[in-house]
Amino acid sequence: MPNPSILAFRNGKLVLPNSTVEDAVIIARNGVIEYAGAAKAPLPKDAIVVDARGGFIAPGFVDIHVHGGEGADFMDGTVQAVRTAIRCHAMHGTTTLFPTTTTGTPEQIEAMLQATAIAKAQWTPQHGARIAGVHLYGPFFAPDKVGCHRLDGRRDPTRAEYNRYFNSKIVSVATCAAELPGADAFYKAARKHGCFITCGHSNANWTEMERAFRYGMRHVDHFWCAMSSVVSLRTRCGTPMQASMEQFVLANIEMSTEVIADGCHLSDELLHFAFRMKGASRLCLVTDSSRALDMPPGRYRFGDNRDGEWFLSDGQVGRSIDGNGLASSIAGMDRMVRVMVRATKAPLHDIFRMASLTPAERVGIASECGSLEPGKRADILLLNKKLHPRRVFIGGVEMI
Ligand SMILES: [Zn+2]
Ligand SMILES: [Zn+2]
Repeated sequence: MPNPSILAFRNGKLVLPNSTVEDAVIIARNGVIEYAGAAKAPLPKDAIVVDARGGFIAPGFVDIHVHGGEGADFMDGTVQAVRTAIRCHAMHGTTTLFPTTTTGTPEQIEAMLQATAIAKAQWTPQHGARIAGVHLYGPFFAPDKVGCHRLDGRRDPTRAEYNRYFNSKIVSVATCAAELPGADAFYKAARKHGCFITCGHSNANWTEMERAFRYGMRHVDHFWCAMSSVVSLRTRCGTPMQASMEQFVLANIEMSTEVIADGCHLSDELLHFAFRMKGASRLCLVTDSSRALDMPPGRYRFGDNRDGEWFLSDGQVGRSIDGNGLASSIAGMDRMVRVMVRATKAPLHDIFRMASLTPAERVGIASECGSLEPGKRADILLLNKKLHPRRVFIGGVEMI
């Protein structure tokens, strides 16, 4: 009689952080990995055997920047919306994620935090991807870099507002544009609450980035999107021309960043360039996916469904209503991985690392997840040879 708490994965190519192993085996007991490596005989007699059918056995994805999916945005502020989105992303191979806020009123952001906290407290693997914490992303954006987000929902950080969010204890990634008045105090508070600190939707110059770095900022959201450049700083600061967030991230080995590798936001050569410059341990793949993931092309709202900014999904990517700007991805992490393989031709273990271990390390959860190693959760993907997820296990429980 097989014991449902013991799983033995076999007949697949195992993706580890620094290598791949042909014809590998993983043994998981009570949702935790006990062994991952070359096939060794015999498997535990009472294990349930899971056949990878000659495909890949890879770690579940970790997404630190994600807004929604299957019609739901985390900013809708309901437990149902959270559940819809985490289930949708699990079907694309994400097993851990950080629901991400956008611009909106303090009440809307608090409703999102509350709904996420309830969904997290009641979570079971059958609900979908595990919620590791909230990414407080909006509302502290620079006015000239709001992108597709509602402009009147952005503001400068104030202690009274962000302390309410931090005191909810669910925020674990915190974004603020470095040039905003009050940004230093925001970073300080975020650090005190143990957050991973990032700068995004910002037109910051080198000096402001250096200052933010001293306060603990170590990451920049979606590289090349809604961030400063030498040219944008010339408009803001005049001459002599100044170094931007781009130069700061590329020059500083402690800084990480992320790319939206959906094939629509950034060309293959930019994706390859980011990988060459930062390497697999400082570059994360994120979906930054909106509610339009797995939905038909059409008009959708970014953020709260009642008053968020409209955008268009053309079936490949989100675009602003005027068609000029990009408005987030509509892809799951599996597509990001496939596009990175094409764009970089990098070893597969490096590509998977950027979608799993690297984000887990950056936010401080790598002891629990992010790679298939003994002692970590059995968050396991089986993918076919073309890297489409076939089966998804979260803590040893299969998502169906
Ligand atoms: Zn953004
Ligand atoms: Zn975003």
